[in-house]
Amino acid sequence: MSSQTILVTGAAGFLGSHLCDHLLNEGHSVIGVDNLCTGSLANLAHLAEEPRFRFTELDICQPFDVGPVDYVFNFASPASPEDYHRIGIETLLVGSVGTVNTLDIAKKYSAGYLHASTSECYGDPEVHPQVETYWGNVNPVGPRSVYDEAKRFSEAVVTAYNRYHGVNTHLVRIFNTYGPRLQANDGRVISNLMMQALQNLPLTIYGDGSQTRSFCFCTDLIEGIVLLSRSDEHTPVNIGNPIEWTILECAQEILAVTGSSSEIIFKPLPQDDPTRRRPDITKAQNLLGWEPKIKLREGLERSLAHFKACIDAQ
Ligand code: NAD
Ligand code: UDP
Repeated sequence: MSSQTILVTGAAGFLGSHLCDHLLNEGHSVIGVDNLCTGSLANLAHLAEEPRFRFTELDICQPFDVGPVDYVFNFASPASPEDYHRIGIETLLVGSVGTVNTLDIAKKYSAGYLHASTSECYGDPEVHPQVETYWGNVNPVGPRSVYDEAKRFSEAVVTAYNRYHGVNTHLVRIFNTYGPRLQANDGRVISNLMMQALQNLPLTIYGDGSQTRSFCFCTDLIEGIVLLSRSDEHTPVNIGNPIEWTILECAQEILAVTGSSSEIIFKPLPQDDPTRRRPDITKAQNLLGWEPKIKLREGLERSLAHFKACIDAQ
């Protein structure tokens, strides 16, 4: 594949920064933009001397133009429940206005386009595991709706730009992903429990810990997403790890990996917290020949140094 110029929004975030690394390693030039509302320039510090990488601090909700690009990856959006509860309106705006602004760039330059959607489109699912044809069970006025409904709107507008304007769009529904550069204080379960375990603080389990999630290591996820971006598929595709863990089992894995003596304590379950989540990845397997390789234990071990560094920096 010849070298491209690629726009990545949300470049200073957890996944956006890993995506930039992947694209640069393939030989492309990358323009990263981010307003740093939840991301950090520290995630891009290693690219400071990279001539094929350029960063601009901007809010994608304001019209912007970075010049001609061949591809747009739209990853800008708060992603952790703690973040999107804190900046709920901004979350709705980046999923709607921000997504439209990035689609206009793809349209203007006849560029390919991939949008980072989410398993949250399925809400608290009544179908398990979640298959792309399931329309979801989302409370439109619940506390999570600022995120879930923004992403559902963004899927609709991305599809409309494909349908009405012929933009070569792709939609990935990302399931819970973790790894180095996950914000230590973002309230997500892996970051919370890893930080607590490494400091021998009590591990906080919300509810009785029987709710499930399926955790994908970041490099597996990015590989699947990049394959999808080069496919002819315009409808949503689940990318995630289909191995399902209860939150209690996940806490036990974290205790084993960290060698921690932390106790487990139970706190109230947040409202509308999905009870089960596991991707059906048959579509990605058939379409892209992709499936994740890294098991939870190995991924947690690969994340240890990052969380230890976060504690040292505190
Ligand atoms: P993150 O918070 O680490 O990164 C998001 C980045 O977007 C941040 O750097 C933030 O500053 C930036 N941003 C937010 N609003 C912006 C705006 N208006 N203008 C410019 N930049 C803005 O989160 P992440 O985990 O890296 O998530 C990246 C994308 O993947 C998000 O769209 C998220 O919804 C999606 N996603 C992530 C997961 C996951 O498990 N990490 C799961 C499903 C979907
Ligand atoms: N959770 C938990 N303890 C924590 C943080 C989260 O038990 O310290 C639970 C949370 O209630 C949810 C699951 O872990 O059931 C995953 O939460 P996270 O915020 O990581 O992701 P999401 O709910 O968006 O899937």
